[in-house]
Amino acid sequence: MNIKNGAYAPTGSACLEKVLSRLDRVKQGRADRWIACCPAHDDKTPSLAITEAGDGTVLLKCWAGCTAAEIVTAIGLELRDLFPGNDQRPQRRGPSRKAIEHERQIIRVAQAQLAQGKALKPSDQQRLELAQQRLRYAQ
Ligand SMILES: [Zn+2]
Repeated sequence: MNIKNGAYAPTGSACLEKVLSRLDRVKQGRADRWIACCPAHDDKTPSLAITEAGDGTVLLKCWAGCTAAEIVTAIGLELRDLFPGNDQRPQRRGPSRKAIEHERQIIRVAQAQLAQGKALKPSDQQRLELAQQRLRYAQ
């Protein structure tokens, strides 16, 4: 496959790019549709259809009947690699802003409870310590 000659033009979805870059004889059909040789069976003529759904999910359809799981395994991926929401980014450092906000919320709730003179349950106390640890790590 030659990316430079513009044989296909990924729409920017990381999932799609990841899948297409591992397939042979990728050709673009319509705007959001590609065909390639299926890696899961002995495919002489491209019989794998790759479609990108509106949310960036990659849909795989082999006309010989291979399942999506067989296809992704054959190219060293997992099913979750087809879903943008589950994309793991090991290169990112520390928890997300949302996760940090969640930990802060836990600390606020615990502190409010302590301020009212209420003792924390052991499980809440543990969770509070975990939240404090995570926030320390995040900074
Ligand atoms: Zn197949």
